[in-house]
Amino acid sequence: MKGLVLDAEWKPREGYLLSDFERQTGKAITGSSVWQHPTLAVRQVEKPQPGPDQVLIRVKSCGVCGSDIHFSETDKDGYILYPGLTKFPTILGHEFSGVVEEVGKQVKDLVPGDMVTAEEMIWCGYCIQCRNGFPNHCENLEEIGFTIPGAFAEYIAVGAKYCWKINEFRDVFGSEDKAYEVGALTEPTCVSYNGIFARAGGFSPGAYVAIFGAGPIGLAATGLVRAAGAGKILVFEVSPERRALAKKVGADQVYDPREVNPSEVILDLTSGQGADFFVEAAGAPQLTIPEMEKSLAVNGKIVQIGRAAQRVPMYLETFQVRRGQFYGSQGHSGHGNFPNVIRLVASGRLDLSLIITARYSLDDVVEGIAQSGARRHGKIMVLPN
Ligand SMILES: [Zn+2]
Ligand SMILES: [Zn+2]
Repeated sequence: MKGLVLDAEWKPREGYLLSDFERQTGKAITGSSVWQHPTLAVRQVEKPQPGPDQVLIRVKSCGVCGSDIHFSETDKDGYILYPGLTKFPTILGHEFSGVVEEVGKQVKDLVPGDMVTAEEMIWCGYCIQCRNGFPNHCENLEEIGFTIPGAFAEYIAVGAKYCWKINEFRDVFGSEDKAYEVGALTEPTCVSYNGIFARAGGFSPGAYVAIFGAGPIGLAATGLVRAAGAGKILVFEVSPERRALAKKVGADQVYDPREVNPSEVILDLTSGQGADFFVEAAGAPQLTIPEMEKSLAVNGKIVQIGRAAQRVPMYLETFQVRRGQFYGSQGHSGHGNFPNVIRLVASGRLDLSLIITARYSLDDVVEGIAQSGARRHGKIMVLPN
């Protein structure tokens, strides 16, 4: 079968001390300090065979994620930009949906023909974090499209316990193609859902919500807070195309944060109260958090979903006198995230298909990822079958 293979050279930067875990597993904890000179190409690879507890999925849709861009983009020394857990070579692609073609002997609740999407985080279920109910912090994590083969491919084999059925989407959207595309948006939507609701506990209907960054995660957040009854939704985003998409999925007002002073705008539009709930999905906390701090409502919450490996000045006095809360959020598994997002989509109250702005065949996926690098698009979909 065909698959998009990313390869790179294992060359820890000078001064980066490899841990025993990294040496033993070949997995880099900080990818951007270890992998140099990445190459990206669609190649012939072996079709996976499902294990006893796995299903074989014929991939129908797979979205391009910001991390896919960060694998192929490099810094001046030729190191990949993605700072997380990685093991190469592997097949990229982790936001996907498809049809079950084969099931392993031990699989009970999936049958060939089921339409499914899947979690990207392959949590072990045995480590202390998993057993305590924190699968997003699994100590033995494998990640589809990061450390194990992903879904920019014709087929993928995945453990049945990570799969979620989306059969209902066919009836809701009246077309299988659209159902699969929407299904492939489940994973990134669950990243936003996990941050807003599972981690930060959400907000009361009618609350003022401000979202920084309208890439796919910020756009999904916008659709979700709309569905959850936010009273006013303000979105800050530098790209005019993405601002237009934010309006489409539910923002009341959108702004270029370089042209306005975000905290002043927020105070102005909330009668001086400030926003009750902030989503950081820009991955630029050094710029966004100080603005949030200045316009934080009493009892306000900030959830950090965007990734940025850097220190950020925070004036903690604000968090004390305004009874503020700051939440760090990672991942999408557990906490009812997948079934709740799937139900919300099936109810017709959340339609994120509006954010899909381009489609590519598997043969052209490298070009699709390059286009995504311009950060103007909503979500780019790759359609392998
Ligand atoms: Zn992703
Ligand atoms: Zn675990």
